[in-house]
Amino acid sequence: MARRLTFRNARLAGWLADYAARAQQSAFERGLMLYDKHRVWDYHASDQGLHASVEDVHSTFFQVNIHWNSKQSKTPLPPKISTMTADCGCTSTAPFCEHITAAIIYWVIRLDKTNEVDKAESAVDQGDSPAYRALVARLKKRVAKETPSYKHFDTSKLIMRPDLQNNAEEIVKTVMAQAAKKRK
Ligand SMILES: [Zn+2]
Repeated sequence: MARRLTFRNARLAGWLADYAARAQQSAFERGLMLYDKHRVWDYHASDQGLHASVEDVHSTFFQVNIHWNSKQSKTPLPPKISTMTADCGCTSTAPFCEHITAAIIYWVIRLDKTNEVDKAESAVDQGDSPAYRALVARLKKRVAKETPSYKHFDTSKLIMRPDLQNNAEEIVKTVMAQAAKKRK
C-alpha cells in the first residue's frame, strides 16, 4: 500500500502534478514506489540542483544529478520543469527515469516539510487562499487548452472538494489515468 503524498503547500503539489504529467507513467509509478521504500540515499540539494544515490529494486545504486538553470536560482523553488536537466546512470531513455523521479519526490516532499518555500503559501486552508485559487486557475487553464493529460480533468470536483489540494497523489493519479485512457 503506497504511502499517501500529503502536502501543505498547494504550489508544490501542483508542481509535482506537472512533473507527473511530463514523466512516463510507468517511470513515475516506479519512482513513487522507490521513494516509498526509502531507496533515496546520499541526498544533497543546493540552489543549483540536487544529487542523490538511488537504489533500485535489485539493490543496484544509480547516481542521479539534477540541475536547474542558474538564472532560476533567484526565483523561488521549485524551478520551472522546462529549465531542469536531469541525468542518471541507468540505461533508461525516458526524459525522467524512475531514479530521477524518486529523487524529485524526495526533494519536493522535503521542501514542503522544511518550509523552504514561501511561508505565506503553506497554511492549510479551506480552499480560499491565493495558493489554492492559483492551483485551480492553472488546472482550469490546462483543461481549456485541452492538452491530452488534462482534457478530462474535472476541475469542478476540485472546487467541490478543497481537501484535494493537500492530496497531490490524487491529482497525479487522476491526470495519469486520463492520459492513459486517452492513449488507448
Ligand atoms: Zn535512472
